Amino acid sequence: KKKPVVCIVMGMAGSGKTTLLQRLNLYTAEKGIKSYFINLDPAVKQVPFGASIDIRDTVNYKEVMSQYGLGPNGAITTSLNLFATRFDQVLDLLEKRSDDLEYVFIDTPGQIEVFTWSASGQIITETLASAFPTTLVYVVDTPRTANPTTFMSNMLYACSVLYKSRLPLVLALNKSDILSPKFALEWMSDFEKLQEALDTSGDESYMNSLNRSLALVLDEFYNALTAVGVSAASGDGMPALFKALDNAALEFERDYLPDLQRRI
Ligand code: GDP
Ligand code: MG
Repeated sequence: KKKPVVCIVMGMAGSGKTTLLQRLNLYTAEKGIKSYFINLDPAVKQVPFGASIDIRDTVNYKEVMSQYGLGPNGAITTSLNLFATRFDQVLDLLEKRSDDLEYVFIDTPGQIEVFTWSASGQIITETLASAFPTTLVYVVDTPRTANPTTFMSNMLYACSVLYKSRLPLVLALNKSDILSPKFALEWMSDFEKLQEALDTSGDESYMNSLNRSLALVLDEFYNALTAVGVSAASGDGMPALFKALDNAALEFERDYLPDLQRRI
């Protein structure tokens, strides 16, 4: 029996994760694609998509902050830790609904490191991946990565996320309504193009030589992922995104599941 594809949406603060979930909510409703939405951002003021599971129903971020005397980031991490201890309940719920779901979309905290570098983020990710085909969706603020050096550091971050989770990764080059992601796709597929951009960027030369070495490393990484241009605002690129998600699910079953079963 076919299981729903779990899509964990992550990316830098402001890249458009929450807006993308809102778009996915609209799109799946319109197309009759049976989907489930989960909010794991305890600090979000408003969830603009129909979240069936919302971390804020279980954990009060403001209370965690005052009760434990924490700053914003500490409180988000602690809230996520508290929620992770009950994640088996989320899994039960998903398994009960599994038959009539095609996709599960998960929004993560605005600050990416809270999810990617915390024990709870890892527990949640591994719990999901042990039960369902799971993929990461790494959202990129395309207009903000038009500088080749910025682009490179964002890609290195995505690369580290990939190696840490060992899950398939779909790169969603968001905000295509502001700037076409063509340049980024070109940099990813043609090393020379990125070189050119780096040479003309006017950055310090030692940075450029470092960047060139990094670009070579990233070449391998690009082979392991699918990149699609999307706009959470306009809805551009949704069919391509879904195609990439389905491919990632197949990739999960083929390449990642055997490895995961060995580790868990
Ligand atoms: P998050 O922190 O990753 O959840 O980012 P948000 O979804 O909160 O979005 C951050 C900002 O980017 C908001 O002002 C959004 O309206 C805006 N935004 C998100 N996606 C798009 C997009 O596709 N196009 C445009 N123009 N703006 C977007
Ligand atoms: Mg958000």
